[in-house]
Amino acid sequence: MLKHLPQSIRLVEVGPRDGLQNEKTIINLEDKFNFIKNLAAAGLKEIEASSFVRAEKIPQMQDSAQLFDRLIAEPSLKNTHLISLVPNLIGMKEALVHGVKDIAVFTSTSNSFNKKNINSTIDESLLKIEEVLSVAKTQHIRTRGYISTVFGCPYEGKTSLTELKRIALRLKELGVYEISLGDTIGIANPKQVQEVIEFLSVDFPLDFFSMHFHDTRGMAIANVLTSLELGIGSFDSSAGGLGGCPYAVGASGNVATEDLVYLFESMGIKTGVDLDKLIYASELILAKLGNISLSKSHTAYVAAKK
Ligand code: MG
Repeated sequence: MLKHLPQSIRLVEVGPRDGLQNEKTIINLEDKFNFIKNLAAAGLKEIEASSFVRAEKIPQMQDSAQLFDRLIAEPSLKNTHLISLVPNLIGMKEALVHGVKDIAVFTSTSNSFNKKNINSTIDESLLKIEEVLSVAKTQHIRTRGYISTVFGCPYEGKTSLTELKRIALRLKELGVYEISLGDTIGIANPKQVQEVIEFLSVDFPLDFFSMHFHDTRGMAIANVLTSLELGIGSFDSSAGGLGGCPYAVGASGNVATEDLVYLFESMGIKTGVDLDKLIYASELILAKLGNISLSKSHTAYVAAKK
């Protein structure tokens, strides 16, 4: 155990989109802009910044276009990959107008989840992704794929590994550079994580995957460590654990970036992230939301400063 750890790992910060989208308090454009700028200043190089969806569907993302105009004009963000979620061709076209260079497309291993979330079956969503990718490729846009409910679905329970493989192969064929495997309801355990990763490793190189764990049941760090030991080198997380869990009211959602930074850096694995600056970024946005941080590393940091 812990014999073949990497020297560094990648963190994909999802707080500004995945996190804020699930927060009820609407954050204004200036505060979102500053949040993203502060996250980049903390050393995060890949940040999910916005989403080009219909404004009435997700009010928190209604100013994505204006936000993006600000972000691409900001010199300090020149070397940051700012990722926008794009659900369909309409979103793709709008994203292009606003200078987006990195997008993410999404589906899940569950038809019921997809129907409720994006009103499409899995295969319908793959067709939309195909349309988006056909444009993205000609415009040299980097595309990340998300697969949700990999470890279980709030409507269907256990989901199929065969289906997971089929979807992942299709996304790869369509040209995504990476797939983020989502534990949408935070139900995974390390043994299941091992089963999924070992199953996929037969057909894919492990650097094709990023793990997206939720801490709903306090299992995220255990699952991250298991993934790391199996050779995964990329993880999604959200500053301050922003986002909560829409399927378990009051529960944690995305694993907190602070906890991952502490975990990796304390074991000598480089993340490129400065914990002090990250906590500064989180504290500003948490104050706007009226939330407390869900990161235990953050709590301990604050206590130590007193
Ligand atoms: Mg999430």
